[in-house]
Amino acid sequence: MFQKDTIAAIATGSVNAGIGIIRISGTEAIAVADRIFRAKKQGKTVEQLPGYSALFGNVCDGDCVLDEAVCLVMRAPNSYTTEDVVELQCHGGRIMLQRILDLVLRSGARPAEPGEFTKRAFLGGRIDAAQAESVMDMIYARNELAARSSAAQLRGTLSLRIRELREMILEHVAYIESALDDPENYSLEGYGDVLRPQIEETLVQVDRLLATAEEGKLIREGIRTVILGKPNAGKSSLLNQLLGEERAIVTEIAGTTRDTLEEDVQIQGIPLRIIDTAGIRDTVDTVEKIGVDKAKNSVTDADLVLYVVDGARPLDMDDTRIMELLEGRRVITVINKIDVEQTVDKMWIMEQIKAPVVELSARTGEGMEELRKCLTDMFFHGTLSMNDEVYITNLRHKQALQEAADSLRQVLTGLEQQMPEDFLTIDLMAAYEQFGYILGETLNDDLANEIFSKFCMGK
Ligand code: GDP
Repeated sequence: MFQKDTIAAIATGSVNAGIGIIRISGTEAIAVADRIFRAKKQGKTVEQLPGYSALFGNVCDGDCVLDEAVCLVMRAPNSYTTEDVVELQCHGGRIMLQRILDLVLRSGARPAEPGEFTKRAFLGGRIDAAQAESVMDMIYARNELAARSSAAQLRGTLSLRIRELREMILEHVAYIESALDDPENYSLEGYGDVLRPQIEETLVQVDRLLATAEEGKLIREGIRTVILGKPNAGKSSLLNQLLGEERAIVTEIAGTTRDTLEEDVQIQGIPLRIIDTAGIRDTVDTVEKIGVDKAKNSVTDADLVLYVVDGARPLDMDDTRIMELLEGRRVITVINKIDVEQTVDKMWIMEQIKAPVVELSARTGEGMEELRKCLTDMFFHGTLSMNDEVYITNLRHKQALQEAADSLRQVLTGLEQQMPEDFLTIDLMAAYEQFGYILGETLNDDLANEIFSKFCMGK
């Protein structure tokens, strides 16, 4: 399975920047570097360098100097890929980086496929599949929570949990099989009473992990949020207030349907994906002109509706119409404009909508903290500590856990029905394999290729 050839790619982003890095990995990495790199210090070669040290010099195509660079060496197995790795830190202009990469490729390396460096780290046994996937999650993280969650997964928080469960199962299988082979020395008498509580406990743990999958999805993708309200209620102002909080990380993404724009924002660390349907700014218009269906559609896929009410204006029929759309949805009613005199009846709204109400001013920002608290209560059980908490953010992991849980339930059923132990081991092994699947230990080539093909170049 190990590919020993030497690969290279530009590891840094596709914009012009101060520094750009070309990464070379494989048995020939150092030799390739020595073919194109001339140290300023006479007589020094890359080959002479111990791991984690660097030389300053020129990247040369024959007699032609292409760029000044720092050449950094990491020696196997102490590198990202576990192979010899050389990083050429050049100036970060795309044209020059591409020329240097071409030179590297002419000098004995081949272009790396997307994710191939990380694939080698995985095949080299430095990280497991869950950790490899977290690398990509971290690179593509859309918000701070997602970045932190993937960092925890890269540290191995999920893997450790899975490994423990897996080992426990293997011990049981080993014991049962020993007893079946050698009944004189190992007894299965009363073994069900030992096995049952442990399987039950394992199931509790697996179910707990599965229960994080919903939050995991919200962390990964953001809480899909639609803002509804009458014209002039302050929807745009609220949106701006939300955007203003972390303007630097706002990204605009073309929505899945025409006329929608999705924007990732964070309200003090909570990731919201605001679905800015064409109708947001004129919900009531939408209701009237295009019909309730279209407006309904805009809330159908939403995880959350923020219903903005102008606190300084009495409610009317338009509000009633909007309220009808909110039935069965997760809603936070935002009574806006608390900086001016209030006329709406908060109690009445609460009775009508049966959802939390937050009073704030989209103009001054007062009350935004309240909105955050409301969001954590609604979506994260009131807590949002992301220290070493494990969240299932990956669909592949979720499916494997579900399969493992099914097999463990079969074990319990088997115990209840007093099935022979060798039947139990079949289900135990099925669960063991599913756990192994998360770690990549029972991963076939196709799946490995699928995981790594999602990576970006140079990682
Ligand atoms: P939209 O039509 O629902 O998007 O409403 P806008 O956000 O455009 O706001 C309508 C008007 O209300 C604007 O003149 C805003 O300046 C004003 N407005 C919005 N939020 C507040 C607030 O919290 N306090 C006050 N006093 N005015 C606000």
